[in-house]
Amino acid sequence: MATGVGLGSSDILCGGENAGDPTSCVLDEGRETETPSEVFAVRPTGSSPDTPGWSVRSVPDCDPILRPQASGSIDKDLRHQSMPAEGHHEVMVLTPQHDRSLAQMEESELNTALQAIRTRAKQLIDDDVIEHVVMIVNHGPEAGSAIKHTHAQIFGLPFPTEDLRDELKNCVSYSEATGSCILCDQIRAGEADTDIVLVENDEFVSYVPFAARVPFQIMIGPKNHSARFEDTDDNHIALLSEVLSKTTRMLSSALDDPPFNLIIKSSPEHEPSDLSYHWHIDILPRQSILTNFELASDVWFNTVAPEESAKILRGDRALYSGDSGS
Ligand SMILES: [Zn+2]
Ligand SMILES: [Zn+2]
Repeated sequence: MATGVGLGSSDILCGGENAGDPTSCVLDEGRETETPSEVFAVRPTGSSPDTPGWSVRSVPDCDPILRPQASGSIDKDLRHQSMPAEGHHEVMVLTPQHDRSLAQMEESELNTALQAIRTRAKQLIDDDVIEHVVMIVNHGPEAGSAIKHTHAQIFGLPFPTEDLRDELKNCVSYSEATGSCILCDQIRAGEADTDIVLVENDEFVSYVPFAARVPFQIMIGPKNHSARFEDTDDNHIALLSEVLSKTTRMLSSALDDPPFNLIIKSSPEHEPSDLSYHWHIDILPRQSILTNFELASDVWFNTVAPEESAKILRGDRALYSGDSGS
C-alpha cells in the first residue's frame, strides 16, 4: 500500500509546474538544482551532473510510490498479504523542450529517449531487488499527467504487477495449448489482415488489437519474438522510434491530440520461459469515460470496431462520420 499517491496522480515533481506556465516548470533546462540530483542523464561527455546541456535527464520522484529501502515487514497472512513498498520510482525528462509532446519530438529525439528508457530499465532489472520494471508516459491531464513537460515514470518493482501476472497466465495457457506465442500469432494475423495495421517497418508494427479495451487503443510490438524491452539493442530501438514517431503523429492528427497513457510492458526478470511473454507498448487514448460497471467487472465496452479505429487513425475516414461500427 502506498498511501496518498497513485500511478495516475503521482507525477508531480516537487510541486511541478503551474497550469502549463513555462516559467514555473522545474523540469526545464537551467533549473536542475530545483529537482533531486539526477540518477541518469544523456549529456555531453565531461559536462557535470545537474547542469544544462542534457538531452534526457532522470531524477528520483520527490514523492515516490516505492523507495529503495522501505520500512515495514512481509506479512504472509492470506487475508491481507503485504510487504514494504520497496523498489524504485524515478521521473525521466524525455526532452529539454518544455512544449514538445511525443508526437512533436523529432524521430532522432525519440530514439535518444527510448535508448535512455531501455538503458535505465536494464540497470534497474539488474538490481537483485527489482523483478519487474514498469515504464509509463502519460500525455495530458485527463491521462493523469500533472506536468505538461514530456516525461516518463519508471518504476522498479520487487514483484510483477497484478495486471502483468494476469496477462502472463493467459500467455502461458495459450502457449501450452498451441505451442506458440499469442502476440506472435496476433502480429502475423495483423500482417495478413492489414485493415488493423497502422505503421510497420522490417522489425516493428503498430496496430489496433482485436481485443482493444478502449476505442483507438494501439499496440506496438516487435515482429520477432522478444520477451523483454530491456534486451532491445540500439538498431532495434532506432526502428522502434520510427514506428512510434509515425504512430503518435497519426494519433495526434486523427483525434486532435488526445490525452493518452503509454505503457511499455516487459516480462519480469525471472519468468521461467522466454516464450510466454512478448514485450510491447500499449497506447490507451482517454476518449471515453469508463463506467463504474466496466471498472468493477473488468468487462469493457468498445464502441468502435478495430478496423474502424484503424481507418480513422490512418486518416482514411473522418472521426465523426456518423457510422462508427459496433
Ligand atoms: Zn518544462
Ligand atoms: Zn511472441
